[in-house]
Amino acid sequence: MGYGVQYMVCLALFTAEYFVQTPEWPHDAKIKDGSVFDFIVVGAGSAGSVVAARLTEVSQWRVLLIEAGGDPPVEAIVPGYSPSLQRSQYDWNYYSYQNQTGAAQKIPHVSPVAKGKVLGGSSSLNTMVYARGIFSNNFFYNDHIVQSVLDLNAEHEIFLYNFLILRPKSRGSVTIKGVGEEDDPIIRANAIYNPEDIFVLREGIKRIVNYITETKYYKHIGAKIFKMNLPQCDYFEFLSDDYWDCYCVNMLAMEYNQCCSSGMGRVVDEELRIYGTRRLRVVDASVMPSIPSGNLNIPTITIAERASDLIKHEHLGK
Ligand SMILES: Cc1cc2nc3c(=O)[nH]c(=O)nc-3n(C[C@H](O)[C@H](O)[C@H](O)COP(=O)(O)OP(=O)(O)OC[C@H]3O[C@@H](n4cnc5c(N)ncnc54)[C@H](O)[C@@H]3O)c2cc1C
Repeated sequence: MGYGVQYMVCLALFTAEYFVQTPEWPHDAKIKDGSVFDFIVVGAGSAGSVVAARLTEVSQWRVLLIEAGGDPPVEAIVPGYSPSLQRSQYDWNYYSYQNQTGAAQKIPHVSPVAKGKVLGGSSSLNTMVYARGIFSNNFFYNDHIVQSVLDLNAEHEIFLYNFLILRPKSRGSVTIKGVGEEDDPIIRANAIYNPEDIFVLREGIKRIVNYITETKYYKHIGAKIFKMNLPQCDYFEFLSDDYWDCYCVNMLAMEYNQCCSSGMGRVVDEELRIYGTRRLRVVDASVMPSIPSGNLNIPTITIAERASDLIKHEHLGK
């Protein structure tokens, strides 16, 4: 980032702080030894905040909400500024490790993983994108999206694309190393570990390139497909399948919509109780049984709403 841009960002943030009124966040409760609660919610993130708020609607219930982080700063509520909170005190500052076999050898072995350690959890760090997913497999969804982007670009004659694998076949894992505060979980990303994921990316890129090079506008201005400076891929013929595979591996970036590590049907039952327990539920993005085709904040909040209803129904019978 150049100094000029940094200066602009500082100035804009100053303006945002001046005009945006930071909400008054809930005060910490003073808990005495021996206090008794009907419900203990661990984590005031997207899901935990909703569950705690819904349970406190029942006036006779005492609910304790425990959050490891503090109050969010102004950047958390101004759209566009939250990326500056990554690798800060508001982030758990985890790392993920990449399994380095096959194509994935080229991906850095260790990458930062952002997770909110603050009131609001990851929703205080997130980019506030709401994407509505659809029931479908990768190809259908990609087709749908690709067509809309092509139509849009045909109108506006701009060519900028980002490819997302919505339903990756590669699977990561999270392993607990210990229960101490210093014992970060071991997160294995294993991105594009399954060759089918590179295939999806490559075929998507080829489709767009084929389309662009056939447009009247492209031909009219004599445009050329820009060759990125990727010496690693110089061995391969430009625009060939091998070239695109190499390109995908070297240009890959990971999104922050991890889920499904305590999937329903595997770790929790249909009412989100951990198998073998009666009073312990998991309510967060991890209980999704499979990866949805979209960002996860709203689906997580929806799960929390449903879980709150289930808990109320169980204890109040309505
Ligand atoms: C950088 C980033 C960008 C994103 N962008 C988008 C986006 O644009 N749109 C979208 O829909 N989704 C986005 N997401 C994803 C979305 O925000 C998350 O999927 C969602 O917030 C997850 O909610 P959760 O309740 O499962 O976990 P979280 O919101 O992460 O909540 C977990 C909470 O538990 C607390 N906690 C953990 N351990 C303890 C403990 N031992 N004691 C007490 N508290 C504890 C944490 O501090 C945290 O507050 C993004 C995520 C990130 C990280």
